[in-house]
Amino acid sequence: MGEFELIRRFFQPLSVMASREQLILGPGDDCAIQRVPADRDLVFSVDTLVEGAHFPHDYPAFNLGWRSLAVAASDLAAMGASPVCFTLALTLPAADERWLSEVARGLARASETFRLSLAGGDTTRGPLTLSLQVHGTVPAGGALRRSGARVGDRICVTGPLGNAGAALDFLGVTEPSQAQKAVLASYHFPRPPIELAQALIGAASAAIDISDGLLADLNHILSASGVGASIDPGCIPLSKALVELTGDRAVELALSAGDDYELCVCINDEALMSLPEAVRSQLTTIGRVEAGSGLRLEGGRSLSGASGYDHFGRSV
Ligand SMILES: [Mg+2]
Repeated sequence: MGEFELIRRFFQPLSVMASREQLILGPGDDCAIQRVPADRDLVFSVDTLVEGAHFPHDYPAFNLGWRSLAVAASDLAAMGASPVCFTLALTLPAADERWLSEVARGLARASETFRLSLAGGDTTRGPLTLSLQVHGTVPAGGALRRSGARVGDRICVTGPLGNAGAALDFLGVTEPSQAQKAVLASYHFPRPPIELAQALIGAASAAIDISDGLLADLNHILSASGVGASIDPGCIPLSKALVELTGDRAVELALSAGDDYELCVCINDEALMSLPEAVRSQLTTIGRVEAGSGLRLEGGRSLSGASGYDHFGRSV
């Protein structure tokens, strides 16, 4: 099967998922065309996933499709962006039809869920690698950045942490328990809180998605904003499954393990109270921004460096 046939068969259907209001020309020409409304900014980001570095060898193709797009969409969530479209560069050792149809099915499911249309792509032969560029838009000037945290802001997270990190121990389990299934689902099928993030525009002072671990990612906000912080690890939301499986290690995983794709958000008290209850209830306060630099754990030591999960070559 040639390159064009392969793309047409498996990936063309992904171009019709979302609305055509902004993606006015999809795959099939030399470039795609996106029309950005005058009152919005275009935000975009690229993520590369390499077999063996970012996902295990023989990783299920459907999960790979979902996870690749979800991870890329998480960066849009971190900015508060509304997703529009993505491009896919796929490097394959061989054109295995069954594998391709499963990847395309996983991508299609995520594409529908996150409302990201395929705008174009490229395929080439080589070690298995997926590069996805995602495009979204935000109200002009309104994107959530890492650099806006102010002294006194609350530090909040959008969901339980540590699940995906715990899942790494159970990837090879053939008949997982209920609790193992629960943490594995967080690893295989992350769901970045895209709509919640959009609701935080104009209220949150800074945001980042938790891809490398809470400590590492919160430290990115602190250095970009020129502030310090203290957090209470006891306030971090943990799933029942995580506690059941990892006991005393649960908090450590929630602090340092990556791949949760929730958000860490800074917001002042007044702005938090101005949010609708349905939005506010999805934020858990775990600490406060302070003057100075560095991150202090309440009742514990000071952490100077970023200690988290760090893939080589991972985008920031
Ligand atoms: Mg990110």
